[in-house]
Amino acid sequence: MTRPEASASRASVLVAGCGNTGSQVLPLVVLNPSVGQVIVTDCGFYEPQDLGRQMIVEANVGQPMSVVQAQRLKALNPDLDVIPLQRTVEELPLGWFRVDVILSNVDNLLARQALGEAGMRLGVPIIDVAIDGKSGLGRVNGYASDPDEACIECSLDPDRYATAGKRLPCQAADAPSTAAPLHAGASVAAWQASETDKLLSGRAELSLLGRQLYFDTQHHQHFVTRFERNPDCRLDHVRWSIEIIDTDPAAMTLADLFALEVAGTSPTSIAAYRQAFLRRLACTGCAWQGHPTLILQERLPVEARHCPDCQEPVIGAAGAVDYALTAADVSADDLAVPLAAIGFEPGDVVTLADGDWRRHVQLGHLQSGKSR
Ligand SMILES: [Zn+2]
Ligand SMILES: [Zn+2]
Repeated sequence: MTRPEASASRASVLVAGCGNTGSQVLPLVVLNPSVGQVIVTDCGFYEPQDLGRQMIVEANVGQPMSVVQAQRLKALNPDLDVIPLQRTVEELPLGWFRVDVILSNVDNLLARQALGEAGMRLGVPIIDVAIDGKSGLGRVNGYASDPDEACIECSLDPDRYATAGKRLPCQAADAPSTAAPLHAGASVAAWQASETDKLLSGRAELSLLGRQLYFDTQHHQHFVTRFERNPDCRLDHVRWSIEIIDTDPAAMTLADLFALEVAGTSPTSIAAYRQAFLRRLACTGCAWQGHPTLILQERLPVEARHCPDCQEPVIGAAGAVDYALTAADVSADDLAVPLAAIGFEPGDVVTLADGDWRRHVQLGHLQSGKSR
């Protein structure tokens, strides 16, 4: 990504994860003069055990991670446009990923997959890092998000999907921690910031895109390997052409979406990016079923995510989960409610289809930012 004039069109960077490496790469990114906007996303809250392992002070314990980091960044660089999002990357509208670089500092595979797909759809490169505190190993992976190059999922062993596990509940006190020392995170964060700088200053050919840097701090060794594009990758390597329509999901209905004409064709089915539509919920722990209102899987209100009877998590009930809706799947009531009531937000992308015809449409612009 070439940003020829740092002042006129400064870069936008999304940093996913505010833990050890995320909290340390942020100041390095915001003090880079070519960066004008940083989107910080993490759904967690700082906990007592994070003291000494993440770049925070005692007063931050109990506070939302993205907000804490945004305040710190504004103090470092008041001119910066900082947008804190207290959310998982899985639930973010695709429009938020229209940035120059995505920095992945997340701690689980499902989040990395979500970042990998967002990068691929929009053509945004990703610098993905991880550390292992016990072994002193760190890695920095670069992904060009080019259909012909390796993506985050290309190198995943099929068995790895089986152990990818379920979603970690956000802010769960027992979420596994890498417990890595701050200095291990700092070394990875420095590499990540350096790679970001190369991409933003037109030196992508020197960057790690398509490669992995793997280093062993205990034995002072480092290795660089190249990723192979996997022809059997689970992610189809397709960059999407997405039309942004000037609308507000609060003022548009599903019926309006079905009536939307794109290049003279109206869709017979509608899919939401990476999300199923749930028509009814079922408890994973007891026989409870409820919430018979159409809702997007990732946009279930927090208070509706657990069973009112036994508190176990709820999921879409069998036979009530649709990855694409046809008008016949939807009640007249659901057709008439605003898209916002189903969970749609500005920046969400829907795929309109009719047979082989397919169009990707983004519902409205997001606040601030560039072409989002
Ligand atoms: Zn792939
Ligand atoms: Zn239950």
